[in-house]
Amino acid sequence: MAYLVFARKYRPQQFDDVIGQAHITRSLANAVTTGRLAHAILFSGPRGTGKTTVARILAKCVNCHNGPTDKPCNQCPSCREITTSSAADVFEIDGASNNKVENVRELRETAKYKPSSSPYKIFIIDEVHMLSDAAFNALLKTLEEPPAHVLFFFATTEPNKIPVTILSRCQRYDFRRVAIDDITGHMAEICRQEQMQISQNALAVIAREADGSIRDGLSLLDQIVTCSSEKVSDEQVVEMLGVIDRQVLFDAADALFSGNAAALVGICDALYRQGRHLLRFYSELIVHFRNLLLIKMGGAEKSLTDVPEHEKKQMAKQVEHVSEPYLSQIVNTLFSDEWRIRQSVSPRHALEMTFFKLLQIRPAMSMDTLIEKLDQLRQEMGGPLPVNAVPEAASEPRNPEPAALPENQDPGPGPVPEPETAPEPEPEPDGPETASTPEDPADGYETNEALWAALKNHIAAQKPSLAACMGESQLREINGRHLVIDIKSSGSNIELLDRKKNITRMEQLCSEFLEKNVRVELNISREANHSEKRKQEAKTLREEALNHPLVDAAVKTFNGKIVDIKILPAGGSTQ
Ligand SMILES: [Zn+2]
Repeated sequence: MAYLVFARKYRPQQFDDVIGQAHITRSLANAVTTGRLAHAILFSGPRGTGKTTVARILAKCVNCHNGPTDKPCNQCPSCREITTSSAADVFEIDGASNNKVENVRELRETAKYKPSSSPYKIFIIDEVHMLSDAAFNALLKTLEEPPAHVLFFFATTEPNKIPVTILSRCQRYDFRRVAIDDITGHMAEICRQEQMQISQNALAVIAREADGSIRDGLSLLDQIVTCSSEKVSDEQVVEMLGVIDRQVLFDAADALFSGNAAALVGICDALYRQGRHLLRFYSELIVHFRNLLLIKMGGAEKSLTDVPEHEKKQMAKQVEHVSEPYLSQIVNTLFSDEWRIRQSVSPRHALEMTFFKLLQIRPAMSMDTLIEKLDQLRQEMGGPLPVNAVPEAASEPRNPEPAALPENQDPGPGPVPEPETAPEPEPEPDGPETASTPEDPADGYETNEALWAALKNHIAAQKPSLAACMGESQLREINGRHLVIDIKSSGSNIELLDRKKNITRMEQLCSEFLEKNVRVELNISREANHSEKRKQEAKTLREEALNHPLVDAAVKTFNGKIVDIKILPAGGSTQ
C-alpha cells in the first residue's frame, strides 16, 4: 500500500477531532441539530487550517443515513463515500481550475436535479475567490433562489476577493491560525500512534515552522519521518528544517543580559559556520525580545499563540531580573538596526555591531525605581546640606526662582580654606574702613579664617540656600558683637542677601553659633569679569547635568533626548 501522508491518514472525521477551531465546529454542530443550517456557507481563513475538512464533515452531518446529526456515523455508505471523495451527491470543485462561467452554468444544470440517494446535493467549492466575475454573476442567480435540496460550502483564503453580493448571501465562518501548542499536541498524538520518538522541543520547532497551519505541520513531520529512523533527535530536526535552534535565541538574550560580549560574538560565529541564515536569525531575535517584553509587561502572555507553554515559562524566568524599559530599548534598537543589517555586505559583522550597541544600553531603572530615586533626591535637597556642600556653581543664579539642580551638583571645593583659595580679602573701595585682621596674619587672620569656615558650615547646614548666595565670602572683622562680612558675589545673589529678612536670619544663625547676640554687616562687592565666569560655570553645570547618571537613566527610560538644559537658580527660598 502506498504511503499515506499524515494529513490524509489523520484527517478529522468528526467535529470533535478538528484542531483549534472549536468556535466554528460548535456553532455548526448546533446549526445541524437545530435545523438552522444556511444554504450557503463560507469558510475563510489561512491555508491548512481545516476549511475543506470541516466542509466534508458538515456534508456528512447532513447526508449521513443516520442524520441529520452533529456526529456522523462514518459507517453508512454516504459517510464512507464522502470520506473517499466518491459520493454521488457531494461535488468537490476546485475554484481555481473551474473558474469560468461555463463551469458555473454546468454546476447550475446539475443543481436542478434532486440528489440521487441523499437528502442534499452539496457543492464544496475550494478557493472560490478564483472564480471570474462572470462566473460569480452566474453563481449569484443560484444563490438568490436556491433549490431546497442544494447546499453550497465555499472555502477561501482570500474572502476580500469575493464580491459583496455573494458574501451577503453566505453564512460566514472565519478559521484561525492554529496555536503552536495545539499543533504540537496533535503531532505528539500522531507520533505516539506511529511509535516515533521525538521530543516536545523538536515538535515545537516543527509547529513553529508550520505557522498556524496544521497541514503544513504534518507535511514537515512527514518529511522528517521519511528521512530518519523512529528516534528523531532535536539536532536532526533543526538541521533538516534549516531553522534556527530556539535555544540560540535564549542563549543570545542571556549573554546580552549578563553583558557577555564574547558569548555574543561566539553565537554570530557559530551561526555563520553552520550556514544559518543570519537575517532570519535576526528576525527571530526581534520576535524573541518582543515576546520577552510582552511577558515582562504581564497579562499579554495569552496573546503569544506562537509560543509554546514551556518556552513561555523559560521566557518568564529569563526576564525575571531585567526591567521593562530596558527590554523596550533592546527591541527598539533591534528594529532600528534591521535595515542596516539587511543592507550590509557583511551581515555577520553588522550583527556583531548591533550586539555591541545593545551591550552599551545600560539596564534602565524601572519607573518605580526612578520615582523613588527622584523622591530621595528631593528629600536630600530639602534637608540640610552636608557641611562642605556649598557649591561654587550655586553662586550664579540667573533669576530668583526656587533652586532645583545646583545645590545637589558637585559640592565643589566648599568653604574649607585651602592654601590657594585663602588669600587675603580684597580691599573694598566702598566698604567701611575698619581695623581689620589681615594686617595680623600670625594671629587674627588664622582665627577669623577658621571661625568663618565653621560659621559658614553652620549657615550651610541650617539654611543651605542662604549659604549658597554668599559666594566667596570672608569674615573681615569681628569686633565684640559686630561682624563685618565681605561678600563677593553676583547681582541677584547680592540682592537676595541684602534683604532685611535674610540679614536677620544670618544674624540669628551667627548668634546661635557664637552663643551671643551679634549684628551682621555685609561689605558687598560685585564680581568683576562677571559674564566670563558665569559662562564657564554654566558650561560646567551643563556638563555635569549631561553626565549625571540620573539624567542618563531618565533619557534612556523615556527613550528621549536632551533638547535643552536650563540652569535654575540656587537660594530662591531666601526671598
Ligand atoms: Zn453516516
